[in-house]
Amino acid sequence: MDKNYDTVIIGGGISGMATALRRHKKGDKVLLIEKSDQLGGKLGVLKWGDYVWDKGPSLFTLPNLITELFTLYNKNPQDYFEYSEMEENCRYYFENLPPFTFFKDKEKRRTELEKIFSKKEIDQVEDYLANTEKIYNEIGELFIDEPKLGLKDMFKLKIVRQYPKLMSQQMLHSLNDYNQKQFQNPHLVQLFNRFGTYNGSNPYQMSGLYSMIPHLELNLGTFFPKGGMRAIIDSLEKLMREEGIEYALNIEKIKVSDKEKGVIVSVEDQIIEAKCVVSAIDHMTFYDNIYQDDRAKNKYKDQVKSTSAVVFYWAVNHKFDEFGLHNMLFSSDYQDEFEQIFDDRKIPKSPSIYIHNSSIVEPNQAPENGQNWFVMINTPAGIEPSANQINELREFVVSRVNELVGIDIKDHIIHEKTWTMKGIENDTGSLDGALYGAAFNTKTASFKRHGNQSKKNKNIYFTGGSVHPGGGIPLVLKSAKIVDQLIDKNGNH
Ligand SMILES: Cc1cc2nc3c(=O)[nH]c(=O)nc-3n(C[C@H](O)[C@H](O)[C@H](O)COP(=O)(O)OP(=O)(O)OC[C@H]3O[C@@H](n4cnc5c(N)ncnc54)[C@H](O)[C@@H]3O)c2cc1C
Repeated sequence: MDKNYDTVIIGGGISGMATALRRHKKGDKVLLIEKSDQLGGKLGVLKWGDYVWDKGPSLFTLPNLITELFTLYNKNPQDYFEYSEMEENCRYYFENLPPFTFFKDKEKRRTELEKIFSKKEIDQVEDYLANTEKIYNEIGELFIDEPKLGLKDMFKLKIVRQYPKLMSQQMLHSLNDYNQKQFQNPHLVQLFNRFGTYNGSNPYQMSGLYSMIPHLELNLGTFFPKGGMRAIIDSLEKLMREEGIEYALNIEKIKVSDKEKGVIVSVEDQIIEAKCVVSAIDHMTFYDNIYQDDRAKNKYKDQVKSTSAVVFYWAVNHKFDEFGLHNMLFSSDYQDEFEQIFDDRKIPKSPSIYIHNSSIVEPNQAPENGQNWFVMINTPAGIEPSANQINELREFVVSRVNELVGIDIKDHIIHEKTWTMKGIENDTGSLDGALYGAAFNTKTASFKRHGNQSKKNKNIYFTGGSVHPGGGIPLVLKSAKIVDQLIDKNGNH
């Protein structure tokens, strides 16, 4: 470590790595510091014998946001990172309904949905998909490609032009209300309400504006990296090494303080002067442990957090054909499930279950006659389930898989690991184990989210899942892009 850097980035998750690559390309002398012994943050990996699980994200959308980091350096992305488009988006399981698959291809999708839904209902699905594309293209950019909108931005011409859309029914109603207007079939309402969970929020409270989320998955498609999700991190780390970007692992003590025209960073008691610092960790953890800004901390401390999770990683000693890569087993009372999570703040009793099975497309991630199940249940942030509750959830999943899918999995689970609220918080620094920072549970949540630049010290920037524009791989990569542009604009260098 030297004594001077242009940009010091704290946190080596995907957003910190993307920021490091972007700033290095601009000619910055960059240092990235990470508390754990590897880069990647939530994109960690678990192994047991011949079984391999991606620890966190499993749904991969907008792969161009990754590949553009390679083209930035005039590299062929395929020399580093390969992925393929998935034919199936997700398999859905409801009570009292045969299972069905949502396909990317319109004709295939229609043929499959015809087994379950009427022509009118399928037309409503297609109309919804057309509308989700429209709203994403028309106003999505304002909310996810640019720094957070403030009150003063409301008079800018390009925003004034969008007023009719901003005041549209999507924006003013909850996602659930909006979906109920689009569909009479309650299963379709529930299916499209689920997209609220993509940023860990409550579809019964968040703005209908987020009806634009399905556009990413259902219109633009889902993808899967060769070698699993962790391959994304390995490829970016390789590029960082080749480009000589400096990073330090296992750093436990970091403090940031103000300096005229810059920032002082103390790293394990070594003093570094930097032109700017980028926090690529949860902003509340940054204020708690690294940088004193009581005003900012108090402003954000009461914001409702997004969901946390209980994840079971199961080594299964049998190949089941029923499941695809992404599978969703819905609860019978979705509203009650969200009330338990956000209002009662309890581990839900009969929750929806997401099951991801990467060995279906990546056979090397499980032995020949086995599968690597990733089973995830949404839970409240800040609530650690007891051993008893984890046992109850496991039993619930086993019985629900039997009931909805007809698979008796119980005797086929030969090994289990779990990741729960406390582990997520300890391993990644996300306060209360929230997967996506603050929830978007109000109509104005986007405006109230933490932005990408400190008000106290203009040389401190924020990227990653807890800040604008939101969590999830695509959005945190967009936040890295926004920070890169803000640093340019503010002329720190
Ligand atoms: C179980 C789970 C499932 C998910 N599913 C999906 C999905 O399917 N699709 C999707 O797009 N997204 C998903 N997400 C969300 C996605 O993983 C995150 O939004 C994204 O990875 C966040 O990246 P990040 O760089 O902002 O933060 P992180 O990945 O959290 O990285 C933060 C890094 O900072 C380090 N750090 C923390 N504190 C300090 C400190 N004090 N000093 C130094 N370093 C520190 C951490 O060790 C970590 O490496 C999921 C997340 C989880 C946990």
